[in-house]
Amino acid sequence: MATIFKGAEVNSALNARIAADVEALKSRGVEPKLGIIRVGERPDDLSYERTAEKRAEKLGVAVEKIVLPEDVSQAELLGVIKGVNENPLIHGVLLFRPLPKHLDEDAVCNALAPEKDIDGITDLSCAGVFAGKGLGFAPCTPSACMEILEHYGVELRGKKAVVIGRSLVVGKPAAMMLLKRNATVTVCHTRTADLPAVCREADVLIAAAGKARMVTADFVRPGQIVIDVGINWDEQEQKLVGDVDFDAVEPIVAAITPVPGGVGTVTTSMLIGHVVKAAKKAE
Ligand code: NAD
Repeated sequence: MATIFKGAEVNSALNARIAADVEALKSRGVEPKLGIIRVGERPDDLSYERTAEKRAEKLGVAVEKIVLPEDVSQAELLGVIKGVNENPLIHGVLLFRPLPKHLDEDAVCNALAPEKDIDGITDLSCAGVFAGKGLGFAPCTPSACMEILEHYGVELRGKKAVVIGRSLVVGKPAAMMLLKRNATVTVCHTRTADLPAVCREADVLIAAAGKARMVTADFVRPGQIVIDVGINWDEQEQKLVGDVDFDAVEPIVAAITPVPGGVGTVTTSMLIGHVVKAAKKAE
């Protein structure tokens, strides 16, 4: 029986710290505000938006939404980004991606002021994560993984960490953050040979492949910590499942995050926490 690393437990400590920071900011006359820029009506975006709005409200952070039509032009969207950059009342910006195909996503992301880039989408924030210099903000999802490990007192120094996935949103920054904490890190991807054997070597395994239940019993061994980033919709069972086959893996390992109720919920709190940090930096 594994210890379940519950997002709600991490959040209760994290949210208390964020709420205290919000109160302190407000006492100094600063109202932290999250700007949300959404193009179109993708159900995934709408669902995350609702969650972010609720979490912001709970923590006393204001939200300003800018919703643009699916066929918005590049110039118009860049104009909106310029507007939020110049608006001193908006401290951090969440831009939903992927953007529609006709838009140059790279140019749009990099038009955002790095100090308002609370989800690490600009090249400068990315460089900060890779250079270990703390420029800008790291993406919220790998930050949430690190927060969970820290909350449960998982020592990373000298440990073997394996990350499945090499996206710029999760896998690569997660690897850099683990490295910063002195883990010995292996990054796996679709071309990795004998993935189960590599994963069994890990003390800490982070699964971020976006493949439902791909981490099966033969990927793990007793004593491991497993962080499941995956969010996948199981059509047959009509429910969200992770990248880890929870029922098969949980009896073997030392600790595991559930899906839902694990990394995802902490990611939302990290997002709001980054807005508050951005507001503090802007003072
Ligand atoms: P992505 O598709 O951009 O990247 C997936 C990565 O996994 C790629 O680098 C690919 O090489 C690797 N991969 C895919 N299949 C593999 C396989 N069979 N074996 C080995 N490697 C494989 O996805 P992403 O944006 O990094 O997201 C990954 C997962 O995390 C998705 O399920 C996504 O929904 C989820 N996610 C969760 C949160 C959260 O807050 N919990 C946030 C973002 C993404």
